[in-house]
Amino acid sequence: MENEKKCPICGKNQDEKYKPFCSKKCADVDLGRWLKGTYVIHTDERPKEADFSETETCSDAKN
Ligand SMILES: [Zn+2]
Repeated sequence: MENEKKCPICGKNQDEKYKPFCSKKCADVDLGRWLKGTYVIHTDERPKEADFSETETCSDAKN
């Protein structure tokens, strides 16, 4: 019974056609959650300031 996949929405057995859901209804429910923003997308990205400090350290080409 370990391999038995269940619908994340209602817990019924998944349908091959609507994986991982059991029916189109549940798939729609899941989609609706997405659209409503129930699933929070983690955007912890902060605009990082590019470090454009001009550093000329390797000027050993002089001879
Ligand atoms: Zn379901």
